[in-house]
Amino acid sequence: METGPVANALSEHPHRRWNPLSGEWVLVSPHRAKRPWQGQVERRPAETRTAYDPACYLCPGNPRAGGERNPPYTGTFVFDNDFAALLPEPPRVQLDVADLLVARSEPGICRVICFSPRHDLSLPEMEIPALRRVVDLWTEQFAELGGRPEINHVQIFENKGEVMGSSNPHPHGQIWAQHSVPVIPAQEGERQRVHFAQHGRTLLQDYLRLELDREERIVCANEGWVALVPFWAVWPFETLVISRRAAPHLLALEEPEREGLADLLKRLTVRYDNLFDVSFPYSAGLHQAPTDGQAHPEWHLHMHFLPPLLRSATVKKFMVGYEMLGEPQRDITPETSAERLRQLPESRSG
Ligand code: ZN
Repeated sequence: METGPVANALSEHPHRRWNPLSGEWVLVSPHRAKRPWQGQVERRPAETRTAYDPACYLCPGNPRAGGERNPPYTGTFVFDNDFAALLPEPPRVQLDVADLLVARSEPGICRVICFSPRHDLSLPEMEIPALRRVVDLWTEQFAELGGRPEINHVQIFENKGEVMGSSNPHPHGQIWAQHSVPVIPAQEGERQRVHFAQHGRTLLQDYLRLELDREERIVCANEGWVALVPFWAVWPFETLVISRRAAPHLLALEEPEREGLADLLKRLTVRYDNLFDVSFPYSAGLHQAPTDGQAHPEWHLHMHFLPPLLRSATVKKFMVGYEMLGEPQRDITPETSAERLRQLPESRSG
């Protein structure tokens, strides 16, 4: 644990923190979080939710916008996105003009995963065996898509909530698999490569050890996984879910670790829902090693949860002004956020 003037600075005074995964800095301004908050606390609205919505294009048996009809699925269901951002065989483009006008074609595949046939559930409302099926589907999709020669990266993610641009409340996530490693995982891969070359251990192995010693940013944990608010978190209640054992991707997980991931997802997302008593919006996603046919011992599988809410169901953080032009900034410290999440119950309230 940091002590004396350092601890004081981290909890009271403006400073920057280093993100060793991205190689970027975040500005922390704890003194501003002491501003009094006079806004009202929003309660969970009385929702009318039904298990099946005849107008939903993700519910079992319903027609989709592309004209196809969903099968009467009873567990998870995956299909190629009808409005895919990436296409398997785009026309080949290679533009290079004075190193200033540069473009490349990018082959890829976009899929949608329905987590459940139930229109009215979200991850925190699903039972562990159902969450386990989601973990297994992620694993199968990573194997299938990552196994294709033209695919070098598989991004599995979920946008939850209207505020995150999710167009449909039916519980679902996405997979974008593509030829290139995208910018953020490429940065994280490079930082992990440098750390592994220097220390012979993964960056997140060493980081997790520091966090487990200190305990102040841990939210919850089980035998295989730890959820914590990273020291360098940008979003108010951002968390990082890290496997205790260094595994580069889902395919390297042991059976109890798959089960453990389902358990930890449930416990973390229930806490999120309990934080402001609302179905908690976020973007979340797995970061895994590239599927380029190389061994990646430096890569340590993890999952980011990036939620925008700041003080209530409606007050969210915006990345504007200084953050668009300078660098990310936060007021509430990661330690305070972790403490609040840690104290919440792991069972659903209300
Ligand atoms: Zn990452």
